[in-house]
Amino acid sequence: MTTISPAGSKPAVTKNAAGERIYNFSAGPGCLPEAVLRQIQEDVFNIRGSGIGILEHSHRAKVYDRVLAEAFEDFRKISNLPSNYHVLFMTGGATSQNFLVPANLKPQDQTADYLTTGYWAEKSIEQAKIYGPVHEAYSSKDKMHSCIPTDAQIKYSANPAYVHMCSNNTIFGTEWHQLEGSKNTWRDRVPMTPAGVPIVCDMSSDIYSRPVDFTRYGMVYAGAQKNLGAAGTTVVVIRDDLAAKKVRELPGMLRYETFAKDESRPNTPPVFAIYVCGLVFKWILSQAEGSRHCLDVIHERNIRKAGLVYDLIDKSTFWKGCAEPNARSLMNLTFKTPSPELDEKFCKESAAAGLDGMKGHRSAGGMRASMYNAMPEAGCKALAEFMREFESKNG
Ligand code: PMP
Repeated sequence: MTTISPAGSKPAVTKNAAGERIYNFSAGPGCLPEAVLRQIQEDVFNIRGSGIGILEHSHRAKVYDRVLAEAFEDFRKISNLPSNYHVLFMTGGATSQNFLVPANLKPQDQTADYLTTGYWAEKSIEQAKIYGPVHEAYSSKDKMHSCIPTDAQIKYSANPAYVHMCSNNTIFGTEWHQLEGSKNTWRDRVPMTPAGVPIVCDMSSDIYSRPVDFTRYGMVYAGAQKNLGAAGTTVVVIRDDLAAKKVRELPGMLRYETFAKDESRPNTPPVFAIYVCGLVFKWILSQAEGSRHCLDVIHERNIRKAGLVYDLIDKSTFWKGCAEPNARSLMNLTFKTPSPELDEKFCKESAAAGLDGMKGHRSAGGMRASMYNAMPEAGCKALAEFMREFESKNG
């Protein structure tokens, strides 16, 4: 029999100290719910009793028709999305949205306003410049992107086509939260914008981590590989007047309207990535508890999870959080020890203890623990415990 396995014997499965799966704190692709992974294992061979695996079905066949229809339905159900918003599954990652947004929504001679609160927001404004004037209404670059602006700190231009923001800054560990007085309530926050100007939001790293009202945005986009599923598709939520906008000649495949009209399959779509999103949407819905909405349950859990580490940081002189406390992310927690040498030691030793992916991004240094929806509370407890031990040995 021919074999396609790599040469040599099968390696032993790496486990954590308790003999369980490794806790994956990677910033993305991130961990997926175990129930989803197990369902994928089955469906790759035979989906829904069809005798054919998900990777082998035609994207126009009945099985995929259902997979896609349910993915749309379930996504809308999670956020009670009104009918004047389209859901699109696109390709090219969130990075491609950096040029697709201005190409579709910004006339050449009109400005668009950008709120630069992190690395990815920097990338967004860079690409928008290809399509004429842009205005940076705020930048936290001089503060190492450790903060989120108040409304008073944002200076809009006279007539922007849209305002672009990034709700969670994956690399620097900040997130837009609603502030009530001085108290951070962790609710999602959109900045005050000039009347009638739509907000376009990159929600790649915190979509569905908390309740969200999409009607506060004209458009939202998110790479799937953190809270929604597998790399290969980008979910776009767009109001119908914006989807229909034509500000310049563009090839059909670069238009939101093409995807809206053709159920996100103007060509062969990333079938597998969309299918995985569909499973994750079902998992999100399954998190509802009694009358409590699934996103409320997930949000409260995320607050508890992040709290385990933030509380520890706040009580210690050894750990230093990188983000300003009122701008802290629930998804990506950034922190440092007193020295780069100890940071490196921590990353090495935590990985050996089954807590993987903790090294901070090259542009930020230190550590980053990504606690997406699928990261179990037990993983965050294990991390907090490990940090406590590390401090007592090295502090
Ligand atoms: N925006 C944010 C907030 C991100 O975290 C990332 C990826 N980490 C991107 C954009 C880029 O996404 P992609 O790799 O899907 O293009």
